[in-house]
Amino acid sequence: MNVDDFLEELEGVIGSQYVLRDAKDTAPYLTDWRGIYQGVAIAVVLPKHTAQVASIVQICRKYKIAIIPQGGNTSLTGSATPETTGAQIVLSLKRMNAIRNIDLQNQTMTLEAGCILQVAQEEASKHQVFFPLSLAAQGSCTIGGNLATNAGGTNVLRFGNARDLCLGLEVVTPQGEILHGLRGLRKDNTGYDLRNLFIGSEGTLGIITAAVMKLFAAPTKKSSALVAVSDFSDMLRLLQFLQKRANAELTAFEMMTRESIELTLQHFPQFDIPLVHQASFTILIELFEYQEDSSETATSMLESLLEEAMQQELLEDAVIANSLAQVKDFWQIREHITLAQAKEPENLKFDISFALSKLERFMTETGQMLEDACPGIRIINFGHLGDGNLHYNLCAPKDASKGYIASQGERIQEIVYAQIDKYEGSISAEHGIGQLKREHLKAHRGDVAYEMMLAIKQALDPENLFNPNKVLIPKQL
Ligand SMILES: Cc1cc2nc3c(=O)[nH]c(=O)nc-3n(C[C@H](O)[C@H](O)[C@H](O)COP(=O)(O)OP(=O)(O)OC[C@H]3O[C@@H](n4cnc5c(N)ncnc54)[C@H](O)[C@@H]3O)c2cc1C
Repeated sequence: MNVDDFLEELEGVIGSQYVLRDAKDTAPYLTDWRGIYQGVAIAVVLPKHTAQVASIVQICRKYKIAIIPQGGNTSLTGSATPETTGAQIVLSLKRMNAIRNIDLQNQTMTLEAGCILQVAQEEASKHQVFFPLSLAAQGSCTIGGNLATNAGGTNVLRFGNARDLCLGLEVVTPQGEILHGLRGLRKDNTGYDLRNLFIGSEGTLGIITAAVMKLFAAPTKKSSALVAVSDFSDMLRLLQFLQKRANAELTAFEMMTRESIELTLQHFPQFDIPLVHQASFTILIELFEYQEDSSETATSMLESLLEEAMQQELLEDAVIANSLAQVKDFWQIREHITLAQAKEPENLKFDISFALSKLERFMTETGQMLEDACPGIRIINFGHLGDGNLHYNLCAPKDASKGYIASQGERIQEIVYAQIDKYEGSISAEHGIGQLKREHLKAHRGDVAYEMMLAIKQALDPENLFNPNKVLIPKQL
């Protein structure tokens, strides 16, 4: 293969200024958000239109060059980082960021893949509608990346994850063809569901270039509270109580353990937890309000529900945000846990989920097993509890020497993964598999499911050109 010919053809399609080769230009695309993986690429290419993506794929096929699709590069599993072979390109969708259409009658919005999530949210709100996908990386992550990882976030309890919000996709296939699926239909039972094949496939089956996403009525107000609970089973009873009484208006039920709050306050002392009682669990609850001039506002509803919950001894203490600024502060605390953990030099993260009925037993038993195996290990456990999703993260003991997690990591993983299997959970609730968890996928999903995945990959991408060796293990292809 002649690299110069290859690059010349790429430049002919998108212009030389959008084929990055200088180390200082390519560096941000070659490492992941957490700085764990470092890749090498022949070039980073930045197309502007779907037709250009298709042409790039056709050129890559001709020269047998693999393509790593990349959006905001906020993946927590190394899935958007190229390998170290130096025989791949990164295809960044960043420049494909147009909002193609907002259809208020159909309550949908058609976005190009590189559209930043927060920009999509803001565009919806300019039209007095609501786009619910929301996560801490929303200032950087893109719609294409959100769909490719089937991102979840904080509103899944009420609105579902990226998959549930998507009505159609435009995709460039590994053959360089364009699959058109942007009709925005809520009902369409015509053969196999191809859209759902691409959602969550982490760029291994197709390059998403645009998507039709659902819009919803904008809440007139949001009401948030921080609630202290000392007992896990009370927390679940409180969730059930609120689901029954607040119904669809309950949009978030986020759990933070005492340890995760302590770590956040240690690294970000500007935050304050305005609860009298520092209990084992702090829950961030949010209700939406839709009525313009209702006698019962979300805040008064939340107040009376929390009062009742307190009488039933489901909680120890509660504080309701008294301003929009305080609502933001509450969410900042929740969102800074990941950032606080990133400041710890030694940590190991698990993004896992369980049936709610099994969560407590998993937590109690696994916590004890980890303490026995690694005395003093710190469990920074928080997550979207309403969805059964834990961000179960471990930090080295305070007095541990450098390299502790590297030396104990395998042992810790063995314990946690065995426990996930025992309690029939998932090893990846919302972050995907990428390269971080690919060794565990086969054992976790079982031979039948894994063989089906290999067969799908082989059928759609027989030359293994799209994000090779992510999700599925190479030697098993
Ligand atoms: C601080 C922080 C908080 C986070 N919180 C959450 C959370 O609450 N919930 C959650 O689910 N995730 C969370 N994440 C991780 C989450 O997966 C990503 O933020 C987001 O969904 C990825 O979008 P991205 O545009 O950055 O994709 P990238 O990181 O660029 O790519 C991710 C994967 O998608 C593929 N891909 C990207 N774009 C395309 C495309 N157009 N077509 C095909 N494949 C593509 C890539 O090849 C890669 O496999 C968080 C990350 C950070 C850093």
